[in-house]
Amino acid sequence: MKKRLFLYTTLIIFAGLLSFFAVSVFVTNTNNINLAKDTVTETARILSNLYHGDTDMAAFVKTGGDTRITVIALDGTVLADTWPLDMATLENHLNRPEIQAAAAGSPAAYVRRSDSLGVDFIYYALKADSGGSFVYIRAAIPVAKIDAYLLGSLPLLVLVILAVGVLCFFLTRGMVNRITRPFESIEQKLRSLSRGDYSPGPIAGSFWEIEEIIRDIDEVAQVLQSSFRDLRDEKNKLDYILENIGDGLVVLNEYRDIALINSAALATFGAAPSITGKNLNYLTFDKALAGAVDDCVTNDKDVLSELKLNGRIFFTAVRRLPDTKLTMVVLSDVTDSRENAKRREEFFANASHELKTPLTAIKGFGELAAIHNRDEKMDKYLGGITRETDRMLTLIGDMLKLSELENTQSIHPVSVSLAKVVAEAREALSTAIGEKSVTFEAAGDALVRAEPAHIYELVKNLIENAVRYNEPGGTVSVAIQSDRDGTYLFVSDDGIGISPEEQTRIFERYYRVEKSRSQRSGGTGLGLSIVKHICALYGWDLSLRSRLGVGTEVIVTFP
Ligand code: ADP
Repeated sequence: MKKRLFLYTTLIIFAGLLSFFAVSVFVTNTNNINLAKDTVTETARILSNLYHGDTDMAAFVKTGGDTRITVIALDGTVLADTWPLDMATLENHLNRPEIQAAAAGSPAAYVRRSDSLGVDFIYYALKADSGGSFVYIRAAIPVAKIDAYLLGSLPLLVLVILAVGVLCFFLTRGMVNRITRPFESIEQKLRSLSRGDYSPGPIAGSFWEIEEIIRDIDEVAQVLQSSFRDLRDEKNKLDYILENIGDGLVVLNEYRDIALINSAALATFGAAPSITGKNLNYLTFDKALAGAVDDCVTNDKDVLSELKLNGRIFFTAVRRLPDTKLTMVVLSDVTDSRENAKRREEFFANASHELKTPLTAIKGFGELAAIHNRDEKMDKYLGGITRETDRMLTLIGDMLKLSELENTQSIHPVSVSLAKVVAEAREALSTAIGEKSVTFEAAGDALVRAEPAHIYELVKNLIENAVRYNEPGGTVSVAIQSDRDGTYLFVSDDGIGISPEEQTRIFERYYRVEKSRSQRSGGTGLGLSIVKHICALYGWDLSLRSRLGVGTEVIVTFP
């Protein structure tokens, strides 16, 4: 910048000086020629006044000093000339423009080349009285004489211009230094800003306007430095967290290239940090994960899936990072928790199974005792034993069903008529329906593909709830409908209803809105959990609409 600024300024000054020189020469030359014109005009005028018929021409033409004088007869013959010319050989001068102008009565000065002498002259001619006749008196100054004046003044002009040039050179250098010096130091300061060791301070020795700008830059740089520091701290914190969380984290850009990967993810895939920047394929060929990433990017939604790698199970969550083109994959190792849950379920299933046998025996003995009992007081206690063992057996039955559903690895569906299943469930629940004196309505039919035991369990649980949580004399209606999207099963009642807060919780295990009522009517708190598990197993949609005191409707959609 410094060199360029200096060069440009010097060039401008040089061009200015050259222009000044050219204009000076031109103006001086024009002035000189004008002066010379005045001189020849004046000389011609004086001499034409002095001329008369007896004038000695040879002496007369010498009176002009440096000015050449020519006397020309009216017919154009040259009579005498200051310069020693051969008059006999001289051509006629009538056609000379200055002579013609004088003849026409409007004399004027002319700059032209002399045909007789071959040099440039400034000519001026006048008509002079020669005692009865006229002659032309012509005065002329050679242009070379004027040029000589000009050349004489040139050295001084060149000297002045050179002096001004040298002065400008030093002034420009000083000025360029004053302008560029602060920029050089601000450049160093900004470089130190990028290294993070920016030290603010005034930069003096320049123009005050530049110093002002630099002060502003200084302020902005300080703010930037502190922001950089904060950002660096935040980044360090983030890096520390990312490196120390147990979960693997991979961030992909729009081309599925790895933008960021933490050490947990590197360890999971057995990759080196140099994998950053490479495509996801370099990390894993797992189709499910690649599909989850595609699904997440294409449909802009979170996608959850599982990844089995080296004998371990990872729960993967694929998410878009808001307002960016980045996608984040979080891998959580769930192998241990899965195994624990499996062990728990196995224990649970075994324990329930083991409890079932003695409970059945207790129930049998209680019933036997009731048959042989003769003591009326004992009837009440024996009835209690039978009721409670029944409840326990129902509970254990539900627990076993749930455990079985959780451990189901594969299903073998067949076509099942929903209306038939509804009829079977109604049959099984006829006692409860009768006891509660509810009206039961069923309409429609459709075939769905499921294992018969599963669909029966689902329908029975929903109808059982509709009866159980109904008011005496209420109505339970089951409707089966189909459209091009699928088949719908509606189980509705006009019973007690469920408050909005409870609606989200009733699908949890053992959750009951009104414990005592549910317990009294034989509820275990597991019915809807079983329904939910069956729906999840087949990919059916389960939804609920309910209003407290008005009724409840459960809808199962079979796509
Ligand atoms: P339970 O065996 O106690 O009926 P569920 O899992 O089937 O357990 O239902 C959970 C709870 O949801 C019930 O205790 C009951 O409070 C509520 N509930 C379920 N179905 C209905 C319904 N149709 N009307 C009102 N409340 C219901």
